[in-house]
Amino acid sequence: MLSQRPLVVRIDRAALTHNLGVARRATLAAHPQARVLAVIKANAYGHGILRAAEALRNADGFAVLSLDEALALRHAGYSHPIVLLEGFFSGDELEAMAHAHLRPVIHREDQITLLARAALPHRLDVWLKIDTGMHRLGIPASRARAALAALQACASVASVTLMTHFAGADEPAIGVAAQQQVFSECTQGLALPVSLANSAALLRYPAVVGDWVRPGIMLYGASPFAGQTGSDLGLAAAMTLESRLIAVRRVARGEGLGYGHAFMAPQDMNIGIVACGYADGYPRHAPTGTPILVEGRETRTLGRVSMDMLCVDLTPCPNAHVGSPVTLWGGALPAERVAAAAGTIAYELFTALSARVPVEET
Ligand SMILES: *Cc1c(COP(=O)(O)O)cnc(C)c1O
Repeated sequence: MLSQRPLVVRIDRAALTHNLGVARRATLAAHPQARVLAVIKANAYGHGILRAAEALRNADGFAVLSLDEALALRHAGYSHPIVLLEGFFSGDELEAMAHAHLRPVIHREDQITLLARAALPHRLDVWLKIDTGMHRLGIPASRARAALAALQACASVASVTLMTHFAGADEPAIGVAAQQQVFSECTQGLALPVSLANSAALLRYPAVVGDWVRPGIMLYGASPFAGQTGSDLGLAAAMTLESRLIAVRRVARGEGLGYGHAFMAPQDMNIGIVACGYADGYPRHAPTGTPILVEGRETRTLGRVSMDMLCVDLTPCPNAHVGSPVTLWGGALPAERVAAAAGTIAYELFTALSARVPVEET
């Protein structure tokens, strides 16, 4: 007998495919030759890497983090270009990367030294990451030309694609102009393919798409912008986290609820206990008032989220009972709203979802 705990995450594969279409159309409108590299790192933002790859197989390539993820895609039969966003962590990985025709991002000069020394079964297509102002990964713009020359001199390098990543494509106060300026100055005159845009840049600054766009969050149906949901952008939410009430209680005015009595009932009220807690990936820091649906009606969480349960206000749903359906996020309740209430972003909700939550695909 399988567990009957009612918590389940539903992944809508048609939504993933639809969102890729949105990304594709935005890309084509900006640059008819540009290709779409579907970012499916972090287990496809919690949606399941192989499930997502299948739904997104019309992408021109995939981007992942680790060799393991890339090899899983190759084993499943995907022959797409696969970019490794952090390249190789150790020179020991290079041979396997060459064998599998993977495309590592080169972001440090010592990686070029390792490449120069490597004797590989095939030459590699590599991506050179230039730091144009995010100051996370990348070769400083002032040294990018020298790094490129060193890469092009490596016998093990077949081609180079130039990339950078924006720190504030989703924040109008920062934008992309300053970084774009640095990028175009240091790559001026080079006839090499370039890749600049994440979801936010693709949607807000289509002029910067370059030759490869790298949409991530939008493929899963969530918005990269604060104060806007995926559906505002024509996207369909691919993930719905659903559960049920496992208890319904009446608490009296002045009684405290859950750990720390973080919520005190201001009057007699009906409350429900939902089978979902922080061990499932629901954010523990979601405060009283975080939106949640019971029987499709919006209400709010109450008190502290426990490991396996959380508490909801049943005042707006007087007919709710043990077994009533609950939507934690997805469907009529955008994950972006839950994330905002909990002081985080949909990216974190999706990727933090625990492996113990059973998946149902539609
Ligand atoms: C994760 C990532 C992306 C995708 O970003 P979204 O905001 O999810 O679209 C693109 N490029 C790089 C380098 C990344 O690490």
